[in-house]
Amino acid sequence: MQRGTNLGRLGDFNQAVIFESIRRAVDGVSRVELAGSTGLSPQTISNVVRRLLDEGLVREDRTVVSGPGKPRTVLELETNRMVSIGIHLDPGLISLVMLNLRGEVLLSRRLEIPAVEVPEKTLETMAAAVNEMITESGHPRSNVVGVGVAAPGPLNPEKGFITGPPLLDGWNEVDIVEPLHRALDLPVVLEKDTIAAAIAETWKGTGQGRDNFIFMYMGAGIGAGIVLNGEVVRGVSNNAGEVGHYSTGQDSRDCECGRRDCLAAATSFPMVAAQARAVGIALDVPDEGTVEERATGMNQLVEMAAAGNEAAQGVLRGSSEQVAQVAGQLCNALDVDTVILGGPLWADIGGYCLEQAALVINERFTPKDVHGIEVLSSRLGFEVGAIGGACAIMDAMFSPKASALLLR
Ligand SMILES: [Zn+2]
Repeated sequence: MQRGTNLGRLGDFNQAVIFESIRRAVDGVSRVELAGSTGLSPQTISNVVRRLLDEGLVREDRTVVSGPGKPRTVLELETNRMVSIGIHLDPGLISLVMLNLRGEVLLSRRLEIPAVEVPEKTLETMAAAVNEMITESGHPRSNVVGVGVAAPGPLNPEKGFITGPPLLDGWNEVDIVEPLHRALDLPVVLEKDTIAAAIAETWKGTGQGRDNFIFMYMGAGIGAGIVLNGEVVRGVSNNAGEVGHYSTGQDSRDCECGRRDCLAAATSFPMVAAQARAVGIALDVPDEGTVEERATGMNQLVEMAAAGNEAAQGVLRGSSEQVAQVAGQLCNALDVDTVILGGPLWADIGGYCLEQAALVINERFTPKDVHGIEVLSSRLGFEVGAIGGACAIMDAMFSPKASALLLR
């Protein structure tokens, strides 16, 4: 818990500490509890709470009876007083969500954009979609906390740039933050999609109430989000979780990095297409096609599997086993007790892949005699990255800690 200071000039910091405590209290928090957790004087708390009440950000009209003693009146968020917007740029699709202060999804959009290779066009489309959502919500722009963009890594957070993720041709050194900020006149942050997804899980997902877990993100690419002791691990450059080139221990095909045993290569579309062909499934797109063709081919296989084609399910299950191998190695490095599998691809295939993935992860986990690894599917579906983006901008704007994120 972040402690406050009773010195006068740090009023804004104290407001952030108190607002953050109220924001994170699932069932409200009383003034007495705030004094205990923040170390602030009752007078300071009273001043800050008065400001928050005046601004309509919190309310204090509910009493909670818990155990013996007198009922306590709790401070709670005015849930719909402000909203935040998250955008997830995945090579396969762009999704947007609007969240209230509690992290509940109010509106969502899903854009299938074939021209995702052209950054300027894509950014214009994103800005237009954000404006439409704000209009649809009925909120004035001043109620919008900001926009959080979740994008595939690696990123350069100091510049606000995407620095050439492997599956986004044409997105080398592309400034995301400044153009969106200019177009929308709102604060914008950029967060790696797997880190954003981990943030979303701690706020609203399967990871709620769990302090140590690994989130394995499966979309067009693969990455990990790591939460230790209740904190999302960002690393020194906000690029933690680059596991795409971890070894699966098996020879698969030439990876762009020059090796042949990478997770990224083992789960890439050309590899999956070849495995599908080997079991008699011909996909309608070339193995080494464009981003759009690869997405189309993958969707075709996923749909066959969803319709009950066991051979198609087997191919996708094999692919997720490779992800599970790497997840098991991460569990050994970090000694967590939970793995959450999620992302746009997992949302479609998790139903018939979870059991086998859990077996593989636990088989790889060395201290298995001490404890096991609980393996769960994300409840946030394909929107996990966008929800994470929206949570990230709220964290950046409200959290008392100095954010390492780029904010304009
Ligand atoms: Zn590689």
